[in-house]
Amino acid sequence: IASSMNNNSLQFFKKYELGKILGTGAFSEVKVAVNRQTREKFAVKIIDKSKCKGKENMIDTEISILSKVHHENIVQLYDLYQIDNKIYLVMELVTGGELFDDIVRRGKYTESDAARIVQKILLAIDYLHGMGIAHRDLKPENLLLSDKSKNGKVMISDFGLSKIFNDEEVMKTACGTPGYVAPEVLKRQGYGKEVDLWSIGVITYILLCGYPPFYDQNNVELYKQILACRYEFEKPWWDNISEDAKGFIRKLLVLDPTKRYTAKQAVNHPFIVLNCGPPPNVV
Ligand code: ADP
Ligand code: MG
Repeated sequence: IASSMNNNSLQFFKKYELGKILGTGAFSEVKVAVNRQTREKFAVKIIDKSKCKGKENMIDTEISILSKVHHENIVQLYDLYQIDNKIYLVMELVTGGELFDDIVRRGKYTESDAARIVQKILLAIDYLHGMGIAHRDLKPENLLLSDKSKNGKVMISDFGLSKIFNDEEVMKTACGTPGYVAPEVLKRQGYGKEVDLWSIGVITYILLCGYPPFYDQNNVELYKQILACRYEFEKPWWDNISEDAKGFIRKLLVLDPTKRYTAKQAVNHPFIVLNCGPPPNVV
């Protein structure tokens, strides 16, 4: 990986050709980039630094951490450039689309489908947490599928930098769907990696029944639900779902972050182990 951020636009455009837009976010745009020599395709995330005033150094620090991350379920960062006031992150291109769209298409996942996806997310998050990185913005839009086949791997994208972008000011303006946000974030207490396990609880719930545990059109009401951890396994939707699955969610949707399961504990829960086997040993 090019560790230096002093690359210029000439170098980037000599190496890559920009293609169509894959997605847009509050601070960035993601486009296809083709390596002119090898014709290999990548996804390039273009972050506008001018929209993140005063945090330029933080961005540089975070990116140097991201470049050390290597995991089969995390979108790989290959190359980075700074051009004018923009950062270009050249990443692995994933073509399966957003997990969210797959949920909508399939309505819901079987328990073993859900457990397999959740296990991969947990293993990737355990890896990140082990490196001192919290994702902080886990939700279906940031979970992509590596390809369109039924065996497409779930890939985590858009992490690390959320530390910079998800501060108070940003939360008010940019956070569209607060349904995944942990209660300690809403309380504006200090918060840490435990927020990711809350989000995984929300994601697991949705995968199993097709609708979110906390929902209200009015955000104030939604926040009240989250802050009280008020959710249910409603009839008839949850009637045929196992106690293991419900028990797993109950260990993640826990108000007190110190009592919530860690990624390591979660990956050893019966819901995961009985569907996927024990977690692979980390070498
Ligand atoms: P933001 O921080 O702006 O939300 P994301 O990294 O989540 O940025 O990317 C925005 C969208 O771009 C994603 O929801 C997805 O549709 C698309 N995208 C992001 N990364 C990739 C990738 N590596 N390959 C293919 N599409 C991607
Ligand atoms: Mg995103």
